[in-house]
Amino acid sequence: MFGLIGHSTSFDAARRKASDLGFDHIAGGDLDVWCSAPPQLVENVEVTSATGKTISGAYIDSCFVPEMLSRFKTARRKVLNAMELAQKKGINITALGGFTSIIFENFNLLQHQHVRSTTLEWERFTTGNTHTAWVISRQVENNAPLLGIDLTKAKVAVVGATGDIGSAVCRWLSSRTGVAELLLVARQQQPLKDLQAELGGGRVLTLDEALAEADVVVWVASMPRTLEIDSASLRKPCLMIDGGYPKNLDAKVASEGVHVLKGGIVEFGSDIGWTMMEIAEMEKPQRQMFACFAEAMLLEFEGCHTNFSWGRNNITLEKMDFIGAASVRHGFSTLNLQGQPQAVVV
Ligand code: NDP
Repeated sequence: MFGLIGHSTSFDAARRKASDLGFDHIAGGDLDVWCSAPPQLVENVEVTSATGKTISGAYIDSCFVPEMLSRFKTARRKVLNAMELAQKKGINITALGGFTSIIFENFNLLQHQHVRSTTLEWERFTTGNTHTAWVISRQVENNAPLLGIDLTKAKVAVVGATGDIGSAVCRWLSSRTGVAELLLVARQQQPLKDLQAELGGGRVLTLDEALAEADVVVWVASMPRTLEIDSASLRKPCLMIDGGYPKNLDAKVASEGVHVLKGGIVEFGSDIGWTMMEIAEMEKPQRQMFACFAEAMLLEFEGCHTNFSWGRNNITLEKMDFIGAASVRHGFSTLNLQGQPQAVVV
């Protein structure tokens, strides 16, 4: 059985969803009420792979909302309680979706293996970041040529280059795709220098410098809502892969010649009878989902019950190959610029 731990995109959206589900006692509550609300297993589902194999899974809402990010202890409790519930339900492999994997890493939840009487078994959980990194890399490779961008001559900026997903995308683009030049963007300088040394290349630039030069921009950092981008300073054409969360780039950069694609999203080959992706505001919520969620399904399809994506900067090209091949085999496609699924060739 696979599991997905997720959350609503905002407090308002969470209250609406709770009302729809009939959780009236909490739907009308204020943020303090929500802070003490336990996680809920809101949906069970069955999924059949393109190979014909059927697996069952469950969606657990952590009852976390982004407005709680500044409440350190609450955020930590929300993620740990949701993991405890997943384990108690006997779920073999559960993906930590949305902010939950970032909370796990940034708040060092590895130190909190004991939740009440439960000892969390880490091998039951995955961040899903390997599949996300593979999907974003393939989205670059599939979509840049559609805009006439030759990646072997192009400059690709990775914003969030030193992160778990960003560093894996850099590894893939430099050694597998052979992009002409990587432009590396993050705030802390030492990890950027370390990444540059590991890659044997790439240029460290500020965000503004990188945006002015890049033919392709991969966003894998949760950027502040207040960030403003001057569209006039961007190259045209420019492919922007919005891999961060929340996905809010199109409103910031919409202009002629700038093409924004939702990054790290996959589409399944047939409808899944679930409602859980409606809260994630997918265009086709019956089929589309975050790649990290799909990773838990893929690991269950493959009978690979292990914390496949775990810790920071551990994603290897070999792991990306494995999860990418499984993704294609079981019927997932990456999104392309038209919002249509694109057949991927591994
Ligand atoms: P990490 O925390 O590992 O990495 C974040 C990266 O962004 C770091 O390089 C960090 O470096 C950089 N960064 C953060 N803030 C800024 C800023 N203001 N300006 C420039 N760089 C910045 O995160 P992950 O790799 O785990 O996740 C990255 C994003 O991908 C998140 O937004 C996450 O929500 C999203 N995601 C999407 C998924 C999907 O399925 N589509 C799945 C999982 C995650 P520094 O601190 O030095 O600036």
